[in-house]
Amino acid sequence: MRQKLVVANWKMHGSSAFIRGFFAEFAPAGNVVICPPYPYLATVAAACAEKGLEAGAQNLNAEPQGAFTGEVSAAMLGDLGVRYVIVGHSERRSLYGESNTVVAEKYHAARAAGLVPILCVGETLEQRESGNTLQVIAEQLAAVSGEAESPWDNAVIAYEPVWAIGTGKTATPEQAQEVHAFIRQALGAEGQSIQVLYGGSVKGDNAAELFAQADIDGALVGGASLKPEEFAKICSAA
Ligand code: PGA
Repeated sequence: MRQKLVVANWKMHGSSAFIRGFFAEFAPAGNVVICPPYPYLATVAAACAEKGLEAGAQNLNAEPQGAFTGEVSAAMLGDLGVRYVIVGHSERRSLYGESNTVVAEKYHAARAAGLVPILCVGETLEQRESGNTLQVIAEQLAAVSGEAESPWDNAVIAYEPVWAIGTGKTATPEQAQEVHAFIRQALGAEGQSIQVLYGGSVKGDNAAELFAQADIDGALVGGASLKPEEFAKICSAA
């Protein structure tokens, strides 16, 4: 039986004052991961440990160490007590040129360091309208699995249709379920046990119907995760 998981992706939002306010107000329910911007990771990891939550990073560099100004390694995240890391978010892919190959390197570096990668996959509106959704997802998954043995062990997948991120346009539960079922099938034997989250304009009032779908195991939440009360509502629905 797969457990539900809800992940907050704060993106480039927040401040010390915001974090104090958030944890004063947020009453956790269930399995919750908070992914703040890097400078706040240690603070958030400590607050999460106190509340029985997990902390996650939004990105990492696949190299173990070296002259890579501005970058952060998987080992550094582990050292801070961070357990999860988002990999291949569509904003990283589109704004920072992360190809399927780069995403795969990051994914494997995270796993090698004992972190749980949250691999984001999803199609653009143009790809959906031209009927290519499942093919795009299959390619994004295949780039990561490659020749690796048990590539989906100790990992999470987040299906995030690009057209639904930050737009207020959520995929319908049926649209999301179709892709989630496809993802499980594409993963073969490991597809039944891996957690597959949905992301894209998840809110307090649409979470329950998404989570009721057979293959949706929770959510990756952007905007609504910055509002403690609303985020708590999503967590309670899981
Ligand atoms: P959103 O973002 O919930 O604001 O649509 C989701 C995400 O980008 O992970």
